[in-house]
Amino acid sequence: MTEQQTKKQIAVVTGASRGIGRAIALELAAKGIFVIVNYNGSAERAEEVRKEIQENGGEAAVLQWNVADHQACDQAVRSIVKEYGAIDILVNNAGITKDGLLMGMSEEAFDRVIDVNLKGCFNMMRFVSRQMLRQKKGRIVSLASVVGIAGNAGQANYAASKAGVIGLTKTAARELASRGITVNAVAPGFIETEMTAVLPEAVKEASAAQIPLGHFGKPEDVARTVAFLVSEDAAYITGQVIQVDGGMVI
Ligand code: NAP
Repeated sequence: MTEQQTKKQIAVVTGASRGIGRAIALELAAKGIFVIVNYNGSAERAEEVRKEIQENGGEAAVLQWNVADHQACDQAVRSIVKEYGAIDILVNNAGITKDGLLMGMSEEAFDRVIDVNLKGCFNMMRFVSRQMLRQKKGRIVSLASVVGIAGNAGQANYAASKAGVIGLTKTAARELASRGITVNAVAPGFIETEMTAVLPEAVKEASAAQIPLGHFGKPEDVARTVAFLVSEDAAYITGQVIQVDGGMVI
C-alpha cells in the first residue's frame, strides 16, 4: 500500500471531553480515524478520552481551546494542519445551556450561549473550510438540536443558537459543495448526558412522555449518526438536518 492509502483520516471533535462529543470521538476512532479531542476546561476528562481511545487500539491527541474565541480557533486549526497535514472531518459538538424564561434572561446568558454554540461553529467552519477547500474534500457535521426546529420554553438563547446552526449548515453546504465538502447537522432530542442530568425530574418525565419511542437517547445513538454522515456512504448527503430524537419532533 502507498503511504496515502495507509494514512489515517484526521477528525477534529470539539467538546469531546464528555457526553456526546466523547461518544463521537470513541466511535470515529473505532473506525480507524485519528481524533483531535478538543476541550475547554475539562483537561483530565479529555485525557481520559484519549487514553480510552488508545486502549481500544485507536489514535488521538488532546488539544485545548475555546471555540467561542475566534483567534484561538484560527491558532488551533493552524497548529493541527501543521502537525498532521490535513483535517478531513470537523464535528462541531461543543455546546452549553444557560436556561431561563425570555423575560428574565440576562444579556450575558444570551450572548454566552450564542458565542459558544453558534459563533463557535462559525469560527471552526471558517478556518477548517479553508483547509478543506485546499484538499478539495471534507466532511463537516454540527450538533444542532430539535429545539432549534420546534423551540422550547425556557431556552430562547439555546433554541436561537441551534436554529442558527441549521442556517449556517445549509449555507455552508451550498458554498462548499462544488469542492467535494459535505456539511450536515444532527439534531438530537433528549440525550442522557450531564447537560440533561441537571433538569428537574418533573421536566424529564414530561419530556420522556413526548417521545414516541418512550425514553431518552444515549450519546452513542448520536455518535453512530455522525459516523455515518462523515463516512463514504453519506457522500451524496449535504445540507441536511438529521433528527436523532426518538420521534420527539415529527
Ligand atoms: P455536555 O455533556 O455538557 O458536554 C459539553 C462539551 O462541550 C464538553 O466537552 C465541554 O468541554 C465542551 N465545551 C463547552 N464549552 C466549550 C467551549 N467554549 N469550547 C470548547 N469546548 C466547550 O453536553 P452534551 O449533552 O454532550 O452536548 C453536546 C452537544 O450536543 C451540544 O452542542 C449540545 O447542545 C448538543 N445537544 C445535546 C442534547 C442533549 O440532550 N444532551 C440535545 C440536543 C443537542 P469542557 O468540559 O472542557 O468545558
